[in-house]
Amino acid sequence: MATDVPTIAGPDGQALMPGRSLPPSGDDPLKSMKLLVANRGEIARRVIRTAKRLGIATVAVYADPDAGAPFVSEAAEANRIGPADLSDSYLSIEAILGAARATEATAVHPGYGFLSENGAFARAVIDAGLIWVGPKPEAIDVMGLKTDARRLAMEHGVPVIPGFDSSQADADLASAAADIGYPILIKAAAGGGGRGIRIAHQADQFDAALHEARTEAQRSFGNSDVIVERYITRPRHVEVQLIGDQHGTVVDLGTRECSVQRRYQKVIEEAPAPNLAPETRRGLRDRARHLGAAIGYDSAGTVEFIVDDNTGDFFFLEMNTRLQVEHPVTEYVTGLDLVELQLRSAAGESLPASMAGLEPVGHAFEARIAAEDPANGFAPQTGTVTHLRVPDGVRWDSAVEEGSVISPHYDSMIAKLIVGSSDRVSALESLRLALGQLIIGGVATNTGLHSWLVDRPELKEGRITTRFLDEHPPPEPPVSVDEAAELAAASWLDYRRARSASGVWSRSFGFRMTPAENSQQLFLRHHGGETVEVAAARLDGPHGAEAVVSTTGTAINAGGSNHSYRLVSRSEMWSGTGRLAEADASSVIAPFPAVVAELPVSVGDYVEGGQVVVVIEAMKMLHSLAAPGSGTIAELPVRVGDQVETGQLLVRFAEAEADPE
Ligand code: ADP
Ligand code: ADP
Ligand code: MG
Repeated sequence: MATDVPTIAGPDGQALMPGRSLPPSGDDPLKSMKLLVANRGEIARRVIRTAKRLGIATVAVYADPDAGAPFVSEAAEANRIGPADLSDSYLSIEAILGAARATEATAVHPGYGFLSENGAFARAVIDAGLIWVGPKPEAIDVMGLKTDARRLAMEHGVPVIPGFDSSQADADLASAAADIGYPILIKAAAGGGGRGIRIAHQADQFDAALHEARTEAQRSFGNSDVIVERYITRPRHVEVQLIGDQHGTVVDLGTRECSVQRRYQKVIEEAPAPNLAPETRRGLRDRARHLGAAIGYDSAGTVEFIVDDNTGDFFFLEMNTRLQVEHPVTEYVTGLDLVELQLRSAAGESLPASMAGLEPVGHAFEARIAAEDPANGFAPQTGTVTHLRVPDGVRWDSAVEEGSVISPHYDSMIAKLIVGSSDRVSALESLRLALGQLIIGGVATNTGLHSWLVDRPELKEGRITTRFLDEHPPPEPPVSVDEAAELAAASWLDYRRARSASGVWSRSFGFRMTPAENSQQLFLRHHGGETVEVAAARLDGPHGAEAVVSTTGTAINAGGSNHSYRLVSRSEMWSGTGRLAEADASSVIAPFPAVVAELPVSVGDYVEGGQVVVVIEAMKMLHSLAAPGSGTIAELPVRVGDQVETGQLLVRFAEAEADPE
């Protein structure tokens, strides 16, 4: 039995929060464990890190595209489970159990996503005589469907959002929507990860929203059932972290705020949630803990709530019966290692009694870094991470290293940047500074969006709702950031030459630069008064010195000898050049590499502008592409299931008839 509370170790092995000691080593039952991590990417590395610290042997399983991934080499052993196709690899219970047998693993950690909330998988692991590092399968089952979870929450006195789930007939759902009153939200009953959720602001949007939600739900979860709910108009997402053991103890580890969202997916999270009335905070924590206790919850899990910012009322959303992506912010403010607690609980240990009254200390933020191009509708990006510079003093939970290839097969989240401090203001400032120093070259990422977000007064004040990004889309750039980045790259490589050449630039820019060792922040000032902040690193490339510059994301790779700038990527939402060619009015092209998921139209059909003509899928998300104008479809050169490349023609319209004007 553990007597002390386990601490989270930073990348260097140092505890992120001082003041708590590591559990005593000795005849630790964990030492005889051999842990298979049934996941990939950053969470596989995260679990392996704790397992190694505890002296537990580790096994990675991987699909072909991940053969060279860091999580595979970091595990003591690795076992190939199949090809890229998820159903033959990370979602194959058979393949994973086969790997467990082959490697004589004794325990399985599912990470998040994939099979982590699959009761059948948990049972199969247990039936195979292995330790399941998760809650008992019954808890997964009962929380697996939002419909069942809602009922259970109601039974235990937890308020739920007014909604309807007692029939799946389209007409019943539509009339329920009318009764509830628009706007309404349609949500996949089996949903997760923000998939299968659509809003309908008014009745004439209902059918399309239902169709899209059902289609995405069927594809993502193999279940097209939905719930119709009242849409809370000033929603904050606040959740409570739970940890339980097999001896009836359930402890809550405080709140997290995850209201900064895009398409119902979290972008920035923090712990604890700010600006909650004391009785609201207490209520959330108590209800969550009671619900966990009621189902005998015995692992790490999260109860998610919507808090109505107008009234302070809160409603149960769902319970995630697994480790959450954003668990590091809770680790920061509690000093706990949640993966260690999961492992100890799974091995039958009791939670330390000292955890019961635990109150978070300090404040932490996490930014989810995704390979997505904010300048292009957040289209998922593939490619090679050519350069990676991570600032000191942060926690960096990442799937990638320099040289890693981001394939189109998996989720676009490639890393998490976690910072913390004694208070919220300084923690947010640390995040701002860290984002300014982070350089990711080679693939576009959403770090420009994060940098913009951390300066929003609403975020500074802790008054963000989940609608923030819809209501306040990031603005267009004040100056050409690509131009600024080019100048910065040149300046950095050769300050003097850049200055003498600045005849061209000085008309647009005055700049100030303070070179240091080999990376630096630069400030470029536009004559209009705008300042562009640039992080630059000088590197040795195959052709000599290279500069990699990132203006809150724009990465430019300038060849050292001739200063000819090669744009390798734009991870900048303000990126101006190199943008994907917009389709002209006579065609629809693929905005990014994807698979054609649906073709709801045929050659010869007449369609209205805005009507969906192709649905494509990339990184597990469906994207509907609409006709740019009304017209007749002349050509459909693709079929459902085809892999398409960026810029590939998907639909061509017939020549428009002469405009009467
Ligand atoms: P998932 O399982 O995909 O995470 P959730 O039920 O947790 O689905 O919802 C995801 C997000 O969608 C929430 O964080 C919240 O921002 C938003 N959301 C869900 N239900 C509602 C609602 N009824 N009104 C407003 N926003 C909602
Ligand atoms: P959370 O509330 O923790 O964000 P979600 O319900 O959003 O949880 O689901 C977890 C997210 O992580 C999903 O978007 C899922 O597709 C994604 N995911 C699953 N496995 C991985 C992985 N190995 N690496 C990155 N993302 C993953
Ligand atoms: Mg959720």
